[in-house]
Amino acid sequence: MSGKNVLLTGSKKGIGLAIYDELKSRGYRVFGCGRSKSDDNDYLSIDLSDPKNAKTLYDCAKETMGSVDILINNAGIYIYSPIENTKQNELIELVNLNFITPQLLCSYAVSDMKKNMWGRIINIGSISGSVGEANASAYSAAKAGLLGLAKSLALELAPYNITVNQINPGWVDTKLSDEALDDEEKREILDIIPQRRFIEPYEIAKLCSYLISDDAKGLTGQGINLCAGLSCGA
Ligand code: NAD
Repeated sequence: MSGKNVLLTGSKKGIGLAIYDELKSRGYRVFGCGRSKSDDNDYLSIDLSDPKNAKTLYDCAKETMGSVDILINNAGIYIYSPIENTKQNELIELVNLNFITPQLLCSYAVSDMKKNMWGRIINIGSISGSVGEANASAYSAAKAGLLGLAKSLALELAPYNITVNQINPGWVDTKLSDEALDDEEKREILDIIPQRRFIEPYEIAKLCSYLISDDAKGLTGQGINLCAGLSCGA
C-alpha cells in the first residue's frame, strides 16, 4: 500500500505514535501533528483545540504530500469530572479537539477523496462513547458524536469507495490513562476488565493498518470496541 498518504493527528505520543510507527513500517507516507515541536518536514506543531487550525493543518499536509488519501483522527483529551464541576472553557476545549476539529478535517479530506474515488477515514473514539462513563460525560458525548459522524459519513461516502470507521479503545497504556488514574484506581479498573489488562497502543495501530488496507474495503460505518472485553458487560 505504499504510495498512499496519511494525515494523522496526535502522532508523537501514545496511540498516535504507535499508529505512526506501524504505518511508516508498511510504506505509507504519514504527515503527523501535535502540540510538541519537531524538525520533521512531515509534521506540524499546532493546537487543534482551535477549530480554525484544522484548515491550516489540512492544507499543510496536502501541500507537503500532494494528497491526503487517509485521515486518522486520533488527537484527544480526557476530562474526569462530575458534570456540575466541569468548567465551560474545559468543555469547549474538549468538544473542539475531540469532535469539531475531526469533523472539519473530514469535510476538507472528503472533497479530495471523492475526486479520487478512494479514501479511508478512521476516528479514534472510546468505549466511553459507546457505553457511557460516569464522571466523563463531556468526553463520552464527544466520542459518541464522533461515532454518529463515522456512521453517517460511511453512508454518504459509500458510492465513492471511501470507508469510515471508528476504533473505540477501552483503557490503553498511555500517558492519558497514566495521568487520569492513580495506582489504586488502576488496580480497581484492572479488576473489572475481563482480560485483566490494559490494551497496548500497538494493538490499535494493527487494527488501523487493517482498516485502511484493501482487504477491509467492505468494512464501513462500524464502531469497533477494542477493549479487552470491558464493554461486554459483567
Ligand atoms: P496521549 O495523551 O498519550 O496523546 C494525545 C495526543 O493528542 C498527543 O499526540 C497530543 O499532542 C495530541 N493532542 C492533545 N491535545 C492537543 C491539541 N490541543 N492540539 C493538537 N494535538 C493535541 O493520549 P492517547 O492515550 O494516545 O489518546 C489518543 C486517542 O485515544 C485520544 O483520542 C483518546 O481519547 C483515545 N483513547 C485513549 C484511551 C486511553 O486509555 N489512553 C482510551 C480510549 C480512547
